[in-house]
Amino acid sequence: MVFITDDDVAHYSMQEETAKCAPTVESSRLASSAGEGDRISLGPQHSGAKELASLYSTGKRRQEIACVISASALIAVNFYFIVFYFRRSNWMSIVLSAADLASGLTHWAADSWGSVDMPVLGKSIIRPFREHHIDPTSITRHDFIETNGDNFAVLIPVLSYMAFNFFTLDEVEIVQSYAWYCYFFWLAVFVSVTNQIHKWSHTYFGLPGWVVWLQDHHVILPRKHHRIHHVSPHETFFCITTGWLNWPLESIGFWTFLERQITRCTATQPISCLPVMMKMHCTPWDHN
Ligand SMILES: [Zn+2]
Ligand SMILES: [Zn+2]
Repeated sequence: MVFITDDDVAHYSMQEETAKCAPTVESSRLASSAGEGDRISLGPQHSGAKELASLYSTGKRRQEIACVISASALIAVNFYFIVFYFRRSNWMSIVLSAADLASGLTHWAADSWGSVDMPVLGKSIIRPFREHHIDPTSITRHDFIETNGDNFAVLIPVLSYMAFNFFTLDEVEIVQSYAWYCYFFWLAVFVSVTNQIHKWSHTYFGLPGWVVWLQDHHVILPRKHHRIHHVSPHETFFCITTGWLNWPLESIGFWTFLERQITRCTATQPISCLPVMMKMHCTPWDHN
């Protein structure tokens, strides 16, 4: 189990709420030109952050736009059928927890295993997570497409399957499985907004009042809560939708247990456990 105190967060994670880390490129440039950048070990001026950010290609951008449009259309189609076949149910908290767990598993896998050099997943999935550790404010400078493109992409197969069923099954069959359709639909909706919620947890300037209210009441991931994950070596508090499961999972040693099983089966170590030289190989910019 990993214990991270408020002092650890204050000393070992990037001070995103200070003016010099305000989420604009201009403020970062000003800080750098004023010599303040020398005092920031992590952030947009970090050589590794610049190199990882430069790997965001035009092809990846086009893929994200296509995925956001496709998944949004599928959400609209499925929402129509979910409303059309509406039945009373009261398990939204279960869906929110499932979305939180899904976000934690994805985040943990991308943070703890593999490298940016891996084929397919390296640059598309692992790169943004590794860049995010070196420059946590980079996400606040990403637009809607770059922030949410990957999450929308993973939803397309599930939403397509649901839409196909709504169009082809008869009413009796749909009503029989309606609870499952509801569950997967709302799970998809919360997964689609997870990285937007993550972005808000790093945004200390100009958030709408209703977003701050949801953060303050821990309906969505609060800013102070997520700072615990940003203490190197980033080995705890991986859930980033609501953050509800972070403490329970940590208290039962869930992530450590998973890592031990994977190490036992594959003889590989998670990045947080590697010696510094090997860690540098997996995330070559982490220690610049
Ligand atoms: Zn992380
Ligand atoms: Zn973060």
